[in-house]
Amino acid sequence: MNPYLNLHPTSPFGERTNPISGFHPGCDYRPVDKKTYAGISGIVTRAERGSHGEVFFVQVQGKIKDTIFYANSYHNENNFVQKGESVSFDTVVAESGATGITTGIHIHHEIRSYNLSSPFIKKLMGLIPSHIEGNHVFLTLINFINISIVK
Ligand SMILES: [Zn+2]
Repeated sequence: MNPYLNLHPTSPFGERTNPISGFHPGCDYRPVDKKTYAGISGIVTRAERGSHGEVFFVQVQGKIKDTIFYANSYHNENNFVQKGESVSFDTVVAESGATGITTGIHIHHEIRSYNLSSPFIKKLMGLIPSHIEGNHVFLTLINFINISIVK
């Protein structure tokens, strides 16, 4: 079961004008019970804790059909996992919070991949909203989880 189906999205993936302009490369969610999920099954590659008001975030690296993806969650109050840990897409990896630049408690979750030439990425980009930036592509989280569960 995709845990993000139960969360209320507060700011969608895509171009936005308020309160911050530019492309929003992830989805924002109002957490339930302050839970932040991994988003992909794999290994925790970063679990960072700022000490001067910086954003706390968790990055999980997972592989689907020979393509490597990174799922990042930001603004966490507390990270519950450490680098090197194995997690499932629905593992609670952090307590949601409002660290870093934000107007309140929310989850900012994004999925990216650097394997721009993989056939699977090309297929995904034709199926779900995506955005290329430099050497990587951002994909919409909720659609991505559905596809990765069904894979
Ligand atoms: Zn966001």
